[in-house]
Amino acid sequence: MNEICPKCGLPKELCVCDVLEKEAENLIKVYTKKAKYNKVITVIEGIPTENMDAVAKELKRKLACGGTVKDDQLIELQGNHKNKIKGLIIGMGYKETNIDVM
Ligand SMILES: [Zn+2]
Repeated sequence: MNEICPKCGLPKELCVCDVLEKEAENLIKVYTKKAKYNKVITVIEGIPTENMDAVAKELKRKLACGGTVKDDQLIELQGNHKNKIKGLIIGMGYKETNIDVM
């Protein structure tokens, strides 16, 4: 008996939901938000967990700013780096089309 995917209704061997999900996971979002004392921080979501520390370290070095990895989910950098960050992330081997600067 063929297993049917509950999401798309296709047999498992034809289903691409897992692939799509994986691609969606790899979407990197960059946005800024206000932190305490009217400071702005730049948030980067979607870097794979295993690369997050290395990416955070590299960005802090390249941008000469402070920053932290939060809950293994996102990188927070002090200051607004929206104009530079895309180029830096691409430089680390991530796909331009997967990076969404908001
Ligand atoms: Zn499916």
